[in-house]
Formats: sequence, C-alpha cells, structure tokens
Amino acid sequence: MPPTEDFDVVVVGAGVGGVYAVHKFSQEGLKVVAFEKADQIGGVWNYNRYPGARVDVDSLEYTYVFSPELYREWRWSERYASQKELLEYLNHVVDRFDLRGLIRTGTAVIGADWRPEAQRYAVTAGDGSTVTARFLVMATGNLSEPRDAAIPGLADFKGEVVRSSRWPADGVELTGRRVGIIGTGSSCVQAVPVIAEQAEHLHVFQRTAHYSIPARNGPLDQGLYETFCADPSQLRALWKGSKLYGAEGSGSPLGAPKLAAAYSPTEQQERLETQWALGGQKLHVVFADQATDKAANDLVAEFVRNKIRQTVKDPVLAEKLCPKYPIGTRRLILDTGYYEAWNRENMSLVDILEDPIDRVTERGIKTRDQHYDLDLIVLALGFKAFVGEIDQANIRNEKGLSPTSAWTRGPRTLLGLMTAGFPNFFTLTGPGSPSVLANLFPQNEYHVDWVADCIKYLDDNGYSSIEPEGEAQDRWTNRVSEVALRLLRLQGNDYMVHRNADGTRVFIPWAGGVDAYAKTADEVAATGYPGFKLRRGADDGSKTPGARAAAPA
Ligand code: NAP
Repeated sequence: MPPTEDFDVVVVGAGVGGVYAVHKFSQEGLKVVAFEKADQIGGVWNYNRYPGARVDVDSLEYTYVFSPELYREWRWSERYASQKELLEYLNHVVDRFDLRGLIRTGTAVIGADWRPEAQRYAVTAGDGSTVTARFLVMATGNLSEPRDAAIPGLADFKGEVVRSSRWPADGVELTGRRVGIIGTGSSCVQAVPVIAEQAEHLHVFQRTAHYSIPARNGPLDQGLYETFCADPSQLRALWKGSKLYGAEGSGSPLGAPKLAAAYSPTEQQERLETQWALGGQKLHVVFADQATDKAANDLVAEFVRNKIRQTVKDPVLAEKLCPKYPIGTRRLILDTGYYEAWNRENMSLVDILEDPIDRVTERGIKTRDQHYDLDLIVLALGFKAFVGEIDQANIRNEKGLSPTSAWTRGPRTLLGLMTAGFPNFFTLTGPGSPSVLANLFPQNEYHVDWVADCIKYLDDNGYSSIEPEGEAQDRWTNRVSEVALRLLRLQGNDYMVHRNADGTRVFIPWAGGVDAYAKTADEVAATGYPGFKLRRGADDGSKTPGARAAAPA
C-alpha cells in the first residue's frame, strides 16, 4: 500500500458537484482529491442509464456557468439533454479542465474519522488506501443510494432483476421479453414508453399514480441560447433571485403568476393551457397560491387529470392513472409519451393497492389474486434520500458518532452545508438547503464557491476548523420547517418529507425560495460566519474574533 497522503480537501463523489469541486478547489491552490465509487465519473448521470433517462430541467439552464467559454462552446442538442449527452458533457468538462488526475474512480470512501489532535479526517478508501484531509466535502447528491427492495422472494427469481438507478452500462435485452416494472416515479415514467416499444409485454406495478406533464422535448431554443451566451452569469443571477425553488426554468409569456382567484375562469383556463403548452416544470407556476391553497391547487390538478382522461382511451384505466393527491406536492414528472403508451396492446397496469404484491417467485410476480410470468423485473423504487451516501461513507466524529445519528426526527444542519459536531465536514446541496427542489448545477456551483470562500477565510485568519453551533443549527432547522408549514406538499408522501412515528412531519429541503436562502448564506460568509464555531487547533475553544453579526435565524 502507498503511504498515507495528506490533502487539503477530500471530495466524495465525482458527479455534478464533485467535478466542479475539484476544479474550484485546485484553482484555489488547495491540494484536492475526489473519490468516486463508480468506475467512471458522472454520478447520477452515470448510474441512471435506464432507457429514456433525461433531465427534467432545460439544458440551457441545467449546466455549469462558472466558465463562460465552456458555456458558449458546448452545444446541447435538445431542450432536455439525455443521460448520454449529460455524461458526455461532464466528461468533456473533466478533460477540458484537466481534472481526471484529481479523481480516483472505482474507489469508494468507506471510512472517515475526525482526528481532533491533527484537525484532519483520516479517510479510508475501498481499495485499502488511506489519506488525510483538512476538509471533507460530500458531493454525493441526495438521490444516489437505491432504496432497498423489501419484496419477498426477489432472490428466487430465475429471470433478470435490474434497478433503474444501476442500469448496466452495456444495456439490458428488452426485445421480446415479458417485463415487470415496480415503482411509478420519474424513472419509471421515463422508461415505460421506451421499454414498451421493445418488450413483448410490460406490466407496470403501480402503488400510487403520479402527475406527469409532457416534457415537450425538442430542439434547443436558439434565441435563448444566444441570450445566455452573451452573458452566462445571468443564469446564476436568475437562479439566485428565484423566489420559488429555482428549477422551474426562466420565463413564461404570462409573467409572474397571481392568486388563482385574481383570474376569471376563462383566464384561469388560458393560463393553464399556456403553461401546459410550454411543458415541463412550468405547471408549478400557474397560480401564486397553488402550492398553499387547496382550491387553487384543485384547478391545476383537475386540468391535468382531464388531459390524462383525454389521452388514455380506456376510461377505467385512465381513472387509475389519475393521481388523487394535490398536484406539485411531489416534484412533477416530465415525460415523452407516457400516457400515450397506455393505449398500446402490450401494456397493462397492476394496481398493487387493490391487488398487493405477495412475493416474487421463480417465474415472476405473484400478487394476492394473480401470477404474472416475467423474464425481467425492473425496480424503479427511488432512493435512500439524503442519508444513504453519507451513511455509506461511514463518517465518524471524535465521539464515534455519524452525521446522521442525530437526524432521527429529520436532518439537522446549518444552511444544509454543515452539521453540528462534525468539524470541516460539508454537504453540497444537503438537507436544509434548496437541494432537490432546485436546479442542481447552479446550486452545486454556489455551494462549492461558498465552501471555497469559507476555507479561504479560515486559512487567512489562522483557523483550523469550523462547525455549526448547536443553537444556530437548531434555529436554522426550525426555520426550514417553518417555511414549509403552509405548503400542501408537507402532507405529501415522498422522500422530501420526514415522517415521525408520532405523526409529525418535517419538510427536508429549504422551501423558502432560493433568493432568501442565498441571501442568508451570503450574509453568513460576509460577516465572519456567525452561528459557526471556529477553532485554532484541538484545544482552542475560541470563536471568531471581533464583532460578530447575528447567526442565521
Ligand atoms: P421516486 O420518485 O421516489 O419513486 C419511487 C416509486 O417507487 C414510487 O412510485 C413509489 O411508490 C414506488 N415504491 C417504492 N417502494 C415501493 C414498494 N416497496 N412497493 C411498490 N412500490 C414502491 O423515485 P424515482 O422515480 O427514481 O425518482 C426520484 C427522484 O429522482 C425524482 O423525484 C426526481 O427528482 C429525480 N429524477 C429525475 C429525473 C429527471 O431529471 N428527469 C429522472 C428520474 C428521477 P409510492 O409513490 O407509492 O411511494
């Protein structure tokens, strides 16, 4: 084994966040290495190779803007880039900025222990190598580690089982096979039309019907491309100024929405049709109160249900595909031909609320009432959101605790970036930041820059470590909960809501707008990191010097 090497920063993960992190930190003169457990870079865009996988945010905005030259020279071929093109783009960035030598692929971090005496993390990789680092930056995303399939009998199946989020790089034979897919989130909805075209038969095992909106993928908007090329930094400004989550994309010919009641019924329908025609996440912003007022929400929800009824010819099937919950309380799914695919002869729906899955057998899936013979089972069950990859990295502080050990009633962070008790440990796009609600390219850039500024501040001022003060973290965690209280989506059942055994619910991402979030995080950085403990070595309990601004409230 090579001797332990000392770094300034270890980055875990080489996806959207990790690639920019190694670039930025090395530009800052820091000695940095990234560990990527997959055998190549790309993160979710490497792992999620299922048929039909593509992004659901406009490519002109789902991209790096840190380099105007990079922005101008890369030509996306479609409005919503495919997984393949996104992976090509990330590889292009790695090569263009000569980052490959800073990334160790095929090497998982399997342990990271904070050593207070050295003010460093001792990091162990899966290949047995060890390094130390002053700072540990998790760039592992929030939807990386697949959710366990607690479906009895899966190991007995004699056919093939694949997960949508671990789709083999050399593909899966679909032609002429009887396929069953379990899970009806974004991954399933994107995959279904493509699988159905090739499979002999496709059975979709649905627990919950979700809203899907036509993506309206097509050629790139050249006019918008030219506008953004003229000054790519405006994209970051657009994102930072977003009062909503920052993933809805820029612009609507209708302007900012007003309350639903401010429009006449005719105007309401016009707005709905216009946003529907634009496609994508624009249906999140028809009425200003659709996320908080049930009546306003019902207008949007029923509009979409009617579109489903108009598309799916079998009225009984159409009703089963109509979601029953308020729209937008889960991230809207974007599809290309999902509901149209349901008119095919070779597709059938298994409503597993009516007829629950009993077990997987050697030959297929046995529900309570029926057996489905299958050659291939696709699991599109989602992820161990927010905590999966942090737990996998096996991080321990000096008390032997893991960052998530205090998260039993929901994640607790300061700004989604740091966790009390874990010095110099950063989570890019972590829980308590806009995270999964927002466009993850600008958000990762913003967070990486924030961390780089923070490290510079520590170094310039002779500090060796930073971590949140418990009270400041409590206040931020409470604020994250409070801004979500009025949202209908707090009552939703997806991975963004932490549900406690006593019935209480905690909304995990920051839902108070990117603008408010960035303003707070900028102020914290500009005023000497109020709310954080800064130390000059293991025995130094001191804080930042001089006058300190108020911690984030
Ligand atoms: P997901 O949205 O969490 O959906 C998981 C699905 O699996 C749900 O339908 C869920 O049912 C079902 N499920 C889970 N456990 C089950 C069980 N034991 N039995 C039966 N059904 C079960 O996961 P995803 O589709 O992978 O998407 C996750 C997130 O990734 C999305 O919200 C999106 O943000 C992102 N994503 C984005 C894109 C894109 O950019 N285009 C594509 C894919 C994913 P219930 O709904 O009843 O819980």
